[in-house]
Amino acid sequence: MAKEAKDSLIRLSKSCLSDAEKNAVIGVLNREYLGMGDEVRRFEAALEEFLGRPAVCVANGTAALHLAIQAAGIGQGDEVLVQSMTYVASFQAISATGARPVACDVNPDSLTLDWRDAEKRISPRTKAVMPVHYSGGAGALDEIYEFAKKYDLRVIEDAAHAFGSEYNGKKIGGFGDTACFSFDGIKNITSGEGGCVVTSDQRILEKVKDARLLGVRRDTDARFSGKRSWHPDVTAQGWRYHMSNLMAAIGLVQLANFDRPAERRRLLAQLYHRRLTGHSSITPILVDFSTIVPHIFVVRINGLIDRGRLRKEMLEQGIETGIHYFPSHELSYYHDENLDPLPVTEILSQEVLTLPLHPDLSDKDIERVVETLLSCLSTNRFISVGKTQLA
Ligand SMILES: *Cc1c(COP(=O)(O)O)cnc(C)c1O
Repeated sequence: MAKEAKDSLIRLSKSCLSDAEKNAVIGVLNREYLGMGDEVRRFEAALEEFLGRPAVCVANGTAALHLAIQAAGIGQGDEVLVQSMTYVASFQAISATGARPVACDVNPDSLTLDWRDAEKRISPRTKAVMPVHYSGGAGALDEIYEFAKKYDLRVIEDAAHAFGSEYNGKKIGGFGDTACFSFDGIKNITSGEGGCVVTSDQRILEKVKDARLLGVRRDTDARFSGKRSWHPDVTAQGWRYHMSNLMAAIGLVQLANFDRPAERRRLLAQLYHRRLTGHSSITPILVDFSTIVPHIFVVRINGLIDRGRLRKEMLEQGIETGIHYFPSHELSYYHDENLDPLPVTEILSQEVLTLPLHPDLSDKDIERVVETLLSCLSTNRFISVGKTQLA
């Protein structure tokens, strides 16, 4: 764990690793079986034990979403409702299946899917809804499930931010239709690159298992016993999306030691929250930090007019910040001139600022971030008081 000197750069996020991950990778290298085998089988078993439902591991979180949608039989000509305020991975995973992502608005408090807005965008082609558990909280997920039930939609949860989070006392991924996690380098746990699909739907599980190995039927069973299918049959479009033993070895260690980083993330986010609530120009995103494992810490700066310069000044003082997210419906590839406006997204996407959050930060680091942010804002150069505010 790298010690931060007093005025060194405070990074927005980073991978946090111990010697145990390094030794695990060396173990795989020494055994000279790098592909999908025993480590992946064990990682899947450990995830199933943690989440309470079967997990199928794949190469990354985007692949998990892609395969989950494909396995639900959704593709060309279909539509999937998804919030515009998300990583472009959610949109790309939908369009990779041939389906069309339909951009929806978010609730201003939690930045999670506003199902009332989504309801207005339903068409006869709508087959699924993809709520994104923004920053680690799932918003009004039970209402989204009710909404999905009413219109007979599948729910594919983009739970990339929410590994370890709980909702109504249950682990995200442990209930509901289908949830997809990411284990990329900076997520709540990492396997370097990786992701998984979690569901109790046996048909989805079987389809994802085959589709991750180029559609070769039952190749997963062969590989888990150190073999391969030499007389393969392929009955569906597949992809080269399986996870390797190298990645799973990292993930296994991260999962076994998850308690400490999970607790650190919670405590640091709570510290930010305490220090920043009550400040007139700052609205922290509404999440219950005692039940989630926060992936990012986001504030809304009401009436923010020059985020670029604010970020530059903070960086000059050694603090990296981020923007989660640039709205996906404003990207050229997903632009749709007939799309009804997304008023909350359009305002909030200009006001959000992500502050550094990772388990290796100290309480002092958080204090330094808060003081730097408040001193930048106190000059009022970045805020327009008369600017349109959300009700
Ligand atoms: C990280 C992330 C993904 C994709 O995961 P990768 O492992 O990077 O492919 C999807 N959605 C959201 C919201 C994410 O943050």
